Parts: sequence; C-alpha cells; structure tokens
Amino acid sequence: MSTPSRYWREIPQRYRLEANKCESCDTVYFPPRLICPECQNRELIPAKLAEAGKVISYTIIRVPPHQFSDQAPYAVGIVELDDGVKLTGQIVDCDFDEIKIGQRVKIEFRKIFEEGESGILCYGYKFVPE
Ligand SMILES: [Zn+2]
Repeated sequence: MSTPSRYWREIPQRYRLEANKCESCDTVYFPPRLICPECQNRELIPAKLAEAGKVISYTIIRVPPHQFSDQAPYAVGIVELDDGVKLTGQIVDCDFDEIKIGQRVKIEFRKIFEEGESGILCYGYKFVPE
C-alpha cells in the first residue's frame, strides 16, 4: 500500500474530523469505530470531534522522519480534546518553552508535508495555543 492511496482514503476524516459516538455509553471515537470497545454496542452515530483540548504530554523532535526534515526541530504533543478523544499532532505557532502540560490548544488545518519531487501536499490537523 503506497502512502498517497492511504492518504487519499483518509481525506474525509482528516478534513472534517469525522468521529462517531456510542449511543449507549457516549464514548467518542476518532477515527470512527464500527463497534464500541467499551460496551460492545454496535449503534454508533456520526459525531463531530471537539475542536479544542489540553496538552497532556509533548516532546521536541530534533531528528525527524525525512518528510519533516525541513521543519525540525518541532513539538509533537498528545492532546486530550474536550470530548475525551486523544490525538497526537504537531504543536505550532509558539516557542517550545511556552508549551506546558495542561495548556489549552485548538485544532487547525495546515500543510503537514510536501511529498518530495511529486509535489503532493499533505494536509492535516495541527495544534495551536488558544
Ligand atoms: Zn459504548
């Protein structure tokens, strides 16, 4: 499976942040699940992901994968959104020493990386301090 086909397949979820929610126990899933792992319920309804949350962990990447080499060093954090979903992504638009555990951030769509000579631009979410 090549990276571009995987990327294109995931576009709807990446752009609209489609999640779903278990009707029985209200747990939100991103990406969406077919069966709720919490209660085995199969009745899950579309839900929109919360657009903000707080940093629960972060690290500074200084030796990145090749797609990100022009961006290093950069911060990557685990953010717990207001609906309980945990997402990993870059934290941008701030100095590293401004990033704190518990800091409020919001989701924004940004260019993630450019795929070498093919020029494919990959977009996705990044976190920006509120
Ligand atoms: Zn459930």
